[in-house]
Amino acid sequence: MVGIIVSSPGVLELIAQAPLVPPEAGEVTIRVERAGICGSDMHILHGSNPFARYPRVIGHEFAGQVMQVGSGVTCIAVGDRVVVDPVLPCGTCYPCRIGRPNVCGNLQVLGVHRDGGFRDHCNVPAASCVKLPADMPIEVATLAEPFAVAANVLSRTGIGAEDIVLIYGAGTVGLTVLQVAKLHGARCIISDPDTARLERALGFGADVVVDPRAASVADAVRDENDGLGPTVVIDGAGIPALLLEACQVASPVGRIGLLGFSAAPCNISQQEIVKKELTLVGSRLNKQFLGPVVGWLAEGKLRPAAMITQTFAAKDARAAFDLIERDPASTIKVHLDFMN
Ligand code: MN
Repeated sequence: MVGIIVSSPGVLELIAQAPLVPPEAGEVTIRVERAGICGSDMHILHGSNPFARYPRVIGHEFAGQVMQVGSGVTCIAVGDRVVVDPVLPCGTCYPCRIGRPNVCGNLQVLGVHRDGGFRDHCNVPAASCVKLPADMPIEVATLAEPFAVAANVLSRTGIGAEDIVLIYGAGTVGLTVLQVAKLHGARCIISDPDTARLERALGFGADVVVDPRAASVADAVRDENDGLGPTVVIDGAGIPALLLEACQVASPVGRIGLLGFSAAPCNISQQEIVKKELTLVGSRLNKQFLGPVVGWLAEGKLRPAAMITQTFAAKDARAAFDLIERDPASTIKVHLDFMN
């Protein structure tokens, strides 16, 4: 029985997990099989996630098998294989009432506000579980949450086959956005100052890659869309200064999606926004996109296998975190195997 806990900022510990408690009404007990390490787990470890409270069992990307169901649970049965949506809305506040539960005023996120999935067993609401097709490998299902984050930002901007999408950053977020945009038929340009990451982006279907050290992004997109520029710009890098450039290069009627969580202000031109009627949208977590993503994965519309660059036994979690700290460029998604 192992649990991976951040006891205080900077301190990662493997703990023996407390004995199992039975699931409460409406909950199920999951035997976690696989989990993915996210940038936001690293932020909690570093003390730079404003929402985290310590000590915390981290982990919000996880999948496994249902071992036990609490009273009143009818949609999920013992033995079902599931992936868990970590977003727990209250269901009654204004955002919840108007169908935006991922920005619930009383939001709880597994692995952030509450103990998460980096442990052998955990109890979660049955309503947060998405059932998996029998033949879907558990490691593939574990990627549903990061792909759901990409699906969310593209639902906020809108996405279609006529779109030309500029994505800043070819890290994990950029590569998931790229794949979800491609499955909608869009043309995709991805910018990153790292040649190896750009090579990888080409393998995931990027139409054009830009190294901003060699050519400015503005020059690289100048001829797109009859010279008007990209119709959608996604900041998958979380760098505030990019927003100014995003507004400058976007097409009239362009939509700009932001995923970063920096508190730093950035100066953007009101003129660009008004002149072109740009739409700037934030995107947080995901709004019940794990179900659709599991469908896309089942239909083979995404390329999940190549996203998982390393898998460590859960007991070797420290080595996994060390690798991400030491050599992030060698990783896209690092997984922890809780069956091993
Ligand atoms: Mn994540």
